Amino acid sequence: MSHSLEFLKSQEIFLVKEEQKLATKFKNGVSFNQTERHSNPLRIIRQALQKIRFSKDYGVCEECGENIPIERLRAQPMAILCVDCRDAAEKKAEKIKRTMPEARQSSIMGMANV
Ligand SMILES: [Zn+2]
Repeated sequence: MSHSLEFLKSQEIFLVKEEQKLATKFKNGVSFNQTERHSNPLRIIRQALQKIRFSKDYGVCEECGENIPIERLRAQPMAILCVDCRDAAEKKAEKIKRTMPEARQSSIMGMANV
């Protein structure tokens, strides 16, 4: 962990605020839409807090183990990947989306391609 304690502290404060905001939202009956449920923001925030407080690997890319630059963490406090790994992951997801839509659609409609 090479990010400074002050930086981690400020990120923690931000994340705690975000967590409270979201928790209140859900208490008031707002539910996740399809995409949000897939990547539950509350869970992501709690994971980030967990990393700051316990595992001490906050700000370290989960893919390559490099430190995620502070500028990126400031803009995206929940980031778990560095820019390179995120781009690679996005490209992979893009590819899956491009090759999968028909298959997914037909199974939803109950017309599996057999
Ligand atoms: Zn990385």
